[in-house]
Amino acid sequence: MSVELLVNNWIKAAYDRGASDVHLEPEGDDKLRVRMRVDGDLHHIETVPDAKKVLARVKVMASLDVNERAVPLDGRFNIAEIGGRNGLDVRLSTTPCMGGEKAVLRVIDNSRLGMSLEDLGFTKKMLAIYKPLVSTPNGLLLHVGPTGCGKTTSLYAVIQTLNRPELNIQTVEDPVEYDVQGITQTQVNHELGLSFPKVLRALLRQDPNIILVGEIRDAETAEIATEAAITGHLVLSTLHTNDAVGTVVRLLDMGIAPYGIAYAIRSVVSQRFVRKLCPQCRRSAQPPEHLVKIIGANRPVYTAEGCPACKRTGFQGRAPIFELMPMTAPLRKAIYASASPDELAQVAAQSGLISLWQDGLDKALGGLTSVEEVMRVVKGVRELPKGSPRPVQATPTPRATGRGAPRPQAKPAPGARPAARPPAAAKPPGA
Ligand SMILES: [Zn+2]
Repeated sequence: MSVELLVNNWIKAAYDRGASDVHLEPEGDDKLRVRMRVDGDLHHIETVPDAKKVLARVKVMASLDVNERAVPLDGRFNIAEIGGRNGLDVRLSTTPCMGGEKAVLRVIDNSRLGMSLEDLGFTKKMLAIYKPLVSTPNGLLLHVGPTGCGKTTSLYAVIQTLNRPELNIQTVEDPVEYDVQGITQTQVNHELGLSFPKVLRALLRQDPNIILVGEIRDAETAEIATEAAITGHLVLSTLHTNDAVGTVVRLLDMGIAPYGIAYAIRSVVSQRFVRKLCPQCRRSAQPPEHLVKIIGANRPVYTAEGCPACKRTGFQGRAPIFELMPMTAPLRKAIYASASPDELAQVAAQSGLISLWQDGLDKALGGLTSVEEVMRVVKGVRELPKGSPRPVQATPTPRATGRGAPRPQAKPAPGARPAARPPAAAKPPGA
């Protein structure tokens, strides 16, 4: 098989399987290991000869210099025959490594463009809170979580909802992931000195209604974005934080005044992916003993034993679960009063926050995924000290630090009191 056909076949297979990335890694004797990331995990596909030829081929596809092997490169290309109406966009990055170069092909599925908030997986309960916030003319809407949690896709869904000819929507991104008709998108260019703050200041002079800032990475960007949100613009952005309360803490750490945070933020959405149960072998069952303690008795749960359709894993595809923290008067007051992270979490829980665990559990009880899967994903994310059920006994591993212990990166606010001991009682949702 020709190298051209080989590469195209991998990309086609990646698209068909819903893979996010294809990894090409040199092994000894000019061999190349091919792996794909599906539903968050890498799977070995094959090992082929002619590693150098394949690397040269993908570089040609992305219009990169085939002879430049000593520095990391990145580029992109489109394959018209794969994917939807606009073909399939692929982003290529290469890095020099022992034995040659490693290449990663990121498959960018344009079909996710045009998704509505409903398509994204927001429940009715969340939409009732979130939709009115999206249609306000100003404020800061944040989507947070680790790399690959789907926060950028969510922001585009919001932009899609708002995209109308009477509004000026401008973005600053690094890089521009999706090409959206009707809005002005600007890419950060570090070589030309076009940083996030520089582009942001420039586009604020162009009379925008809505501004999408790809990511808030530094204090200067945070400050301009907050300022813009307070002075009559709707600002959408992402932050690399674990959860909603952690986002407030991070912004404080970046030097944003409590006043700015309290009055700019409309909501913070934190998100994660869970694996969906295979529709072929999914069935409802009585919950095992350890789950009864958490979700209450007499509520059926869903499990999947595995079948040929899901390669015996019991799972097929992924879906997001969300934490939604709307800004409320009590929360604003707590931020303004420099409350500790634990106090903020408590106030947020009492004033309408829907936790990842609550949303995940709702979706698990509806059959989307298993309760264990939600526990696996939620574990390690700050949960709420009060008023929401917690995934106890998810694993037998004892927790090293107490739930109420301050997180190491969270600088205690001035005058913050030591964290209160979390109350023991946790009632199941809907009880
Ligand atoms: Zn199955």
